[in-house]
Parts: sequence; C-alpha cells; structure tokens
Amino acid sequence: LIQIYQPLNFLGFVYREIKQSLVDMEKMFSIISENAEIQDSPDAKDLIVKGGEVVFDHVSFHYAQNRTILKDVSFRVPAGSMTAIVGSSGAGKSTISRILFRFYDIAAGTVTIDGQDIRQVTQTSVRRHIGVVPQDTVLFNDTIRYNIRYGNPDASDEQVEEAARLARIDKFIETLPEGYDTEVGERGLKLSGGEKQRVAIARTILKNPSILLLDEATSALDSHTERDIQAALKTVAKDRTTLVIAHRLSTIIDADEILVMEAGQIVERGRHAELLAKQGLYYSMWQKQQEASEAREKLAALEESV
Ligand code: ATP
Repeated sequence: LIQIYQPLNFLGFVYREIKQSLVDMEKMFSIISENAEIQDSPDAKDLIVKGGEVVFDHVSFHYAQNRTILKDVSFRVPAGSMTAIVGSSGAGKSTISRILFRFYDIAAGTVTIDGQDIRQVTQTSVRRHIGVVPQDTVLFNDTIRYNIRYGNPDASDEQVEEAARLARIDKFIETLPEGYDTEVGERGLKLSGGEKQRVAIARTILKNPSILLLDEATSALDSHTERDIQAALKTVAKDRTTLVIAHRLSTIIDADEILVMEAGQIVERGRHAELLAKQGLYYSMWQKQQEASEAREKLAALEESV
C-alpha cells in the first residue's frame, strides 16, 4: 500500500505546490496542462547562482494571443536587495512572479538570473534557488515538524526548531499539546492564516534560497500578528534577493525600489519617499490606505468606548 500511497502523496505535493505558488486557484488545471508545454531546452544546464541578481529586460507577455498582459517591463533587482511590486488588482504583479518561476515563457524580452537566461537553464534548478512565501500556504496532513522540514528534508530537529524560532512560530508551537509532533492540516489542527504564513517562512528559511518571492496576504491581520510576520519576513529576506508583491504599502517603505504597475506596465518607480514626492499614482494609493487605516482606528476606538 505504501508503494501506491507515496507516489500519490508526491503528486499531491506537486499539485499543492503549483496551486500555492500560482495563487490563482481557479486557473490551476489549465495552468498544469499549459505548464507541461514549458520544456527545458535540449542543452539546458543548471542555473549557477552567485548573488542572485534578477533582471527583466523589455519583457512582454500574454496568456492568450489577443490579450497582452505585460508590456515592455524592465527592472533589475540587484543581488541581496528588495524590490516591491504594487498596483491595482489585475495589473500583472503575480504574473511577474509566475514568469520568474518559469511557469510560463515570455513573448519578448529576456529574464535573467545572474546573467543566465532562465530559458537556457533547467526549470528544476531555477525553482531550487527560489523560495516562495505564498499568500495562503496549504499544509500537509502531517505534523508541524514535517510541514516545516519540507523546506529541506535533510534538516535536523534542531534546525527545524531554529527555523521556527526565526519565523516566530516557536512560541505558538510550544503551546500545542504535542508541540512539534502535533498533527496539522485538514485532518489535524487548523492554523490561522498568519500561523500558516509563518510555517511557510520557516520552510523557506530551511530551503535557504538565494531568491525570495513573497506574496503578501491581502487579508488584514491583527496588528500583533502583522508585526510578528513583518519581523519574520525581514529575517528571511536578509541577504537574499527579494521580490515582494505588496498590498499594504506600509510594509514596503524600506524597499530598495518600488515598482508601481498599472495594466501590465510599470508606470512609476523609486523609493517610498521619492514616490510620495512625485504625487502620482503611488501617492494617491498611499493616501487612500492611510485614510482607510485612520478610519479603522477611529472605529476601533469608538467600539472600545461603548
Ligand atoms: P491581484 O492583485 O488581484 O492578485 P495581479 O496584479 O497579481 O492581481 P495577475 O494575477 O498578474 O494580476 O493578472 C494579470 C492579468 O492576467 C489579469 O487581467 C488576469 O485576469 C490575467 N490572468 C491571470 N492569470 C491568467 C491565466 N492563467 N490565463 C489568462 N489570463 C490570466
């Protein structure tokens, strides 16, 4: 039975990994079949990563022939730095991360990692060097230790626990009746969105990739959890090339560069203060978010007073 179960379980992994990495679940089946069309070039070598510099050079892309999604997108993420991508829903932010992960090939331009075109190297080697912290992590029906160790099956118990500490999930795990041996997932203990994201961060710490793709959760977290997650993300992003798809602008004010996207194009770029000074799209997004958070605070204060 175990011989049948293990491959099935593995397929389950792949299925869930693709699902969580791509975020867009409804499109999953078409993505899996489309994904099979991406072939390694016959002479593909393994990607060699030194610092992990990512460059998009005049990239254009469409999912369907008649609808261009990315138009002439160019940016460079120097090794070890952080670039944030912001913009309204449908602007093309997640598409950029899917292209970097090479789930799709582009129509024009090049994407390189440390100077190597990602079409000229093996897909597995590209994915080995990229860690993904998705919006919503799907946990395996197994112990929390197993779920963290998934980032690196060779990790020792001590390494798993150290990763949990760095991801700020250790205190939570210690409160569980069976600690690291507690069963989680659909059939076990259900974790909150913030807890699952920290499990994903711990996994990524164990995977130890040079490049990190963070897809910030859209759902609002309570301010305590938000702070913990921000601190954990900061730890995992340190010294790695990081691309973050951000929804809350307050979380990216320290980014080395912010790309503002609209309808598949980068319409503004710069650091937080520079973009505010421009008084353009970023500035108006910032104003809106500030107003919304002030309104939330007032409401919370009002609720407390009654
Ligand atoms: P959000 O903030 O809502 O996640 P986004 O900026 O990440 O949005 P993308 O997911 O990159 O946007 O999508 C960009 C555009 O591409 C959207 O118009 C979307 O409908 C379209 N799109 C996304 N995935 C597919 C797909 N598999 N096939 C066809 N079109 C797609």
